[in-house]
Amino acid sequence: MREKVQRFMYGRYGFDELSKVALAATLVLMVVSLFTKNRFIYLVSLILLVFSYWRALSKNTKKRQQENRKFLSIRYRGVARWGKWKERQAQKKVYRFYKCPGCGQMVRVPKGRGRICITCPKCQVEFIRKS
Ligand SMILES: [Zn+2]
Repeated sequence: MREKVQRFMYGRYGFDELSKVALAATLVLMVVSLFTKNRFIYLVSLILLVFSYWRALSKNTKKRQQENRKFLSIRYRGVARWGKWKERQAQKKVYRFYKCPGCGQMVRVPKGRGRICITCPKCQVEFIRKS
């Protein structure tokens, strides 16, 4: 039996991070649909289940790796953005944050200094804001 499974899985992609996240979402959505009796949520969970197994059993490993890499980079960007947002929230009492009109860089200035001229450290554009 074990050999049969191994032979079946030979050359197939297997479970990666994207498939695991899809499986976890399947589980969560199935539990939610169990309590809410929502058929749409149940359908979505089934689609995610099929998607996850389809990826794991796929023989086109190059394409699956590309998808996984894309997923990981999107997730990483989200985590990084969340971290920055949390850091900014923690500093909100002492600093004000402005986006540079020239390059979009976030600039941090101390609060309570009145109208000040801010020079962007990245592109040297000057702009006036209330601190
Ligand atoms: Zn700038």
